[in-house]
Amino acid sequence: MTLNSPRGTKDFFGNDIKYRNFIINTARQLFSVYNYSEIITPAFEYTEVFSRSIGEGTDIVQKEMYTFLDKKGRSLTLRPEGTASVVRALIENKLYSDHLPVKLFYIGNMFRYERPQKGRMREFWQLGVESIGIGSSIIDAEVIWLLNSFFKQLGFRNLILFVNSIGCSRCRVKYILEFKKYLKPFKGELCFDCRNRIDSNPLRIFDCKKDGCRKILEDSPKIQSFICSECKDHFEGVLNFLKILEINYKVNPNLVRGFDYYTKTIFEIISSDIKSAQNALGGGGRYDDLINQFGGPDIPATGFAIGIDRTLMLMKQQNINFDIKKEGPKVYVIVMDKNYQSFALEVVKFLRDKNFACDINFMIKNLSSELKWAEKNSYNFAVIIGEDEVNTGNITIKDIDKFKQYKINWKSQKDKIIKLIWSEE
Ligand code: AMP
Repeated sequence: MTLNSPRGTKDFFGNDIKYRNFIINTARQLFSVYNYSEIITPAFEYTEVFSRSIGEGTDIVQKEMYTFLDKKGRSLTLRPEGTASVVRALIENKLYSDHLPVKLFYIGNMFRYERPQKGRMREFWQLGVESIGIGSSIIDAEVIWLLNSFFKQLGFRNLILFVNSIGCSRCRVKYILEFKKYLKPFKGELCFDCRNRIDSNPLRIFDCKKDGCRKILEDSPKIQSFICSECKDHFEGVLNFLKILEINYKVNPNLVRGFDYYTKTIFEIISSDIKSAQNALGGGGRYDDLINQFGGPDIPATGFAIGIDRTLMLMKQQNINFDIKKEGPKVYVIVMDKNYQSFALEVVKFLRDKNFACDINFMIKNLSSELKWAEKNSYNFAVIIGEDEVNTGNITIKDIDKFKQYKINWKSQKDKIIKLIWSEE
């Protein structure tokens, strides 16, 4: 019997790893420019961490969590998202007691028992930020700015940034009453899921992709007409800062998010080039009540999460190429006979000690097939160690990109090797 990976999971290797590392390295670098520092939390938490924060009525908590009992009968859940864990860690470690805002980022795998399809996995990877402790709209703008800069830096075009305000817990109550009243006569026309959502999580109906439900929503009351003056001012403040930062956005009154904890500003970045329903690359929003609900201080917060898998998929689809040379020149040492391996190893050691990405052929084959392999695998230089090289002490260096060849004396001209390889940059 052959064993396969579980449905909805994926192995990463080869080129995908390069894309992934590029995405993650870009994020790390950008997050530090915006002064966010990393936090690592466990991949599983007590179930309550998620059910209390994300909301009992949400799809995630009702249907999608990987929940299990440990050997002592405690209910644990593989994290379906990052914010709840960060908030738990913030409170437990009192990270809020020094300076506000606390600006954190995370990179990690998330787990949701969803129906797998293109861009939707059961284990997927996210990177996200949380900015905790400040309620004013300048922080919303900073977080959106960072989300936007990240995708710009990766080289994406054709992205649409949607923003909306869903008001605070007070104004939302009034809205939901009105919204439910509006939906009542249409109950029979809504899809099965949305019918259930009327009581459990009515805002989620805005997320339904079915034409019938979307039609019903066209004339529904919109939250904008219900938000209080404080929420309104806050949202106008955010939009104003976005204008100052020259960030293009679209206010989307139908935008909702899948978690209960959001308040006021929410946002999502989508690609108009992804034709499937799974076109959101990242999103987030404010969650002003969550930390207090968790038993922490009454401090507001905001954040976002980006899907690494979808970002990678879109980068490949759009042929967004990052410059592989940024990794530095790569050297392949080709040794032509087992007896010359110790000589070759000396060369490899020298190059690796100088931090060049370097490998050697561990299996002796013919030169032309080795050179072809090196070229195909983005090596910039090949160093050839054959009979002539061993006898004369002059190694052959082939510049694969420039089709040039050099002979350099191994004992007396080591510096020349380094200069030659670096001149590739
Ligand atoms: P969310 O945590 O639901 O706001 O999702 C944030 C981002 O994570 C989305 O925009 C997607 O890019 C990504 N994402 C969410 N769920 C999945 C999934 N099941 N598979 C792959 N990516 C996902």
